[in-house]
Amino acid sequence: MGATAIVTRFAPSPTGHLHLGHVHSAAFAWRHARDAGGRFLLRIEDIDPTRCRPEFTDAILEDLAWLGLDWDGPVRVQSAHLPEYRETLDALSTRRLLYPCFCTRADIAREIAASAAAPHGPDGPLYPGTCRRLSADERASRIAGGEPHALRLDMAAALATLSAPLSFEEAGEGRLRCDPARFGDAVLARKDVAASYHLCVTHDDALQGVTVVTRGVDLKPATDLHRLLQSLMGWPEPRYAHHPLLTDATGRRLAKRDRAATVRDMRAEGATAAEVLRRAGA
Ligand code: GLU
Repeated sequence: MGATAIVTRFAPSPTGHLHLGHVHSAAFAWRHARDAGGRFLLRIEDIDPTRCRPEFTDAILEDLAWLGLDWDGPVRVQSAHLPEYRETLDALSTRRLLYPCFCTRADIAREIAASAAAPHGPDGPLYPGTCRRLSADERASRIAGGEPHALRLDMAAALATLSAPLSFEEAGEGRLRCDPARFGDAVLARKDVAASYHLCVTHDDALQGVTVVTRGVDLKPATDLHRLLQSLMGWPEPRYAHHPLLTDATGRRLAKRDRAATVRDMRAEGATAAEVLRRAGA
């Protein structure tokens, strides 16, 4: 395979059955790879045990195979690779780019309510930085005392490592400038989830040699933070192709709660794979 070989992936989170929006996204990535004679990978992003269920993983694999969206190589299941994400977190911690955050949601909400300015980023209100200001001794004693904590990126410290502004190549748009500061001190490991979506997705795209990240345009803002993580870790920069979200006849975004739009239901009603792909605009 030459240096220009295309590698794409579909990376669903198994929080429910595959719906038409997923099919649209999977077929977009599949076609991108197949049209170029490249590879199409499947990755299950099940890092959050509070939302993901193994039976949905099985159903996703089965539905994709039924649709004929065949993938190359083994399926990567993120929950089987927690030590790898831990290593990345450790590497960032050693460089003092992460800090432990002991705040509860209520603590953060209270701080935000009490402050005059409450800026919002793509993932919600920005963290006011309470735990960034803790001393090393206080951090150590609270960790030693077993207090649960998340790990946050010290955004100012991370930005200070950059020698030039970040950007990314978006299909049909050219180079777009990144503004990762919009995320503030992003959570890279939650109290109850070993590593965040942002960390795992960039880790795995690098590890798996993904050359074109394809996904819904709703995740386009996240690319700013992903480019920062790639820069911090010395990971290669992929290209990006964000596709419009599939909408129904009234222009409303199709969501998992629209039961009628799941592949399972359409199969049960006797639809063929070709019909489902057509309804997904694929
Ligand atoms: N796992 C993410 C989701 O299901 C998609 C990740 C990505 O394509 O970057 O929304």
